[in-house]
Amino acid sequence: MKFTGRAQIESLTQFKTENFPVTSLYLDTDKSRLLKKEISVSLKQLLNEGKARLEAMDVAREKKESLALDLEKISAFCAQNLGTFNHAGLALFACSRKGFWLPLFLPHGPRNRFVVDQNFYVRPLPAILDKYRRVCVFLISRREARWYEVFMGEITPLGSLTSNVPSRVKKGGYEGNESKRIERHIEAHVLEHFKKASRMMFDIFKKNHFESLFLGCEDNSYPVLEPLLHAYVKDRLKGRMKAKPADSAAAVLKEAGELESVLKTDEASEVVRKLIAELERGGRACSGVRETLHRLNQFEVQTLVVTHNYSKEGRACPNCKFLYLEDEICPVCRRKTGHVADVIDEAIEAALKHKCAVKQIDATTRLDRYGSVGAFLKYKM
Ligand SMILES: [Zn+2]
Repeated sequence: MKFTGRAQIESLTQFKTENFPVTSLYLDTDKSRLLKKEISVSLKQLLNEGKARLEAMDVAREKKESLALDLEKISAFCAQNLGTFNHAGLALFACSRKGFWLPLFLPHGPRNRFVVDQNFYVRPLPAILDKYRRVCVFLISRREARWYEVFMGEITPLGSLTSNVPSRVKKGGYEGNESKRIERHIEAHVLEHFKKASRMMFDIFKKNHFESLFLGCEDNSYPVLEPLLHAYVKDRLKGRMKAKPADSAAAVLKEAGELESVLKTDEASEVVRKLIAELERGGRACSGVRETLHRLNQFEVQTLVVTHNYSKEGRACPNCKFLYLEDEICPVCRRKTGHVADVIDEAIEAALKHKCAVKQIDATTRLDRYGSVGAFLKYKM
């Protein structure tokens, strides 16, 4: 099924297996960048890697059997679907022992990965969601209005409005007062059209719970339109577009995608700027792996900020689940901690479980000079 949002991530993070290992596989299937052959070679490598790891595992027979079935299921699914697959990425989650199987179709190619763990590997998913917010595009001219939803690289029409507004007065067609009177009459029609469109806009927002609004209108219409928008809608206005109601959906999608990407970059630099400002004034923030893990363990993190794909080996306590950089013995419950391949990954999962926000920063930013990971805290340190 298509990857649609947080609910799927939550159901994956909450899946409990009572110590049965689970399998997660991510495959980059973006045919705009990769040949079919390259995709199937990558899949083969992942499956071979999986088989090799399974053989080397020293675990109970029934655990091994469950993992072997996961591999078979993944292999069969890919053989059947990959040929005609037209999504940029594929994620497969399996725990055969518990009868769990979830294929997710992704709009963005992930890094190829095969992960066997106690929990599903979900880290790439919030990063993809962050990339694709649900945006309402509202395009309005003096006579027409059109709405679209743009989400995960797809565009869906939501509705349109055509009002009966007379054409503008032609130059030299009328003289003096008569011309002004007609002009006022026309402007009244335009205003009525804007009012009607603004009311429809509010209804569309209430129904769809959009996070962002992109607005396309003529520059001279904007000062008339803006005061008519409901405060709830106006709060979500994130950018202006050049597109017009008559433009093709494909053109609208392209412009919306470009605007979204610019906004994302600006937002990421803003998050990093705020975090660093907070750190420098000794406020409610921390940075670096060790400190951030400590604050996360103490449930003090409000928003975790991490450079995309930054990873680090670490340790986790099997009892209290606290995360550490190198503590061999958990300082809290005195149990021996276990090695984890990517403690940043574990931190993101823990943050999501604690209902913290997670901001993954796509580009290289000043955050890298602060250890590539940090957090805004709930309380002052
Ligand atoms: Zn512990």
